[in-house]
Amino acid sequence: MSDVQEFSAGLKKVRQRRILLWLTIAVYVPAMMISLQSAGGWNTVIKVFIVWLILLCVVVALAVVVRCPDCGNCFHTHGPTFFPVRRCVHCGLHVNADKKGDDRPDRE
Ligand SMILES: [Zn+2]
Repeated sequence: MSDVQEFSAGLKKVRQRRILLWLTIAVYVPAMMISLQSAGGWNTVIKVFIVWLILLCVVVALAVVVRCPDCGNCFHTHGPTFFPVRRCVHCGLHVNADKKGDDRPDRE
């Protein structure tokens, strides 16, 4: 358990980047609806879409490079594939292991 407490700062960083990713994805539909209602018409829609796309690329890149505090590998990335799952794709550390306890079978 004390092991997992040491990971707390690293896991907090992983959680923040995951929240940023899901918020960016969730904001897409409201942003498109608001821009469609705007006076600027399709020009505004295209501009909003391009800004959203750039923002998405940035937050995905941030989520891809975040490191697991236990094994040191990329938390969400195995080879070229991005898996935004709640466990480290290398060692299985849960994103909330510092709150719930480490439930990996090979750890105590
Ligand atoms: Zn790991």
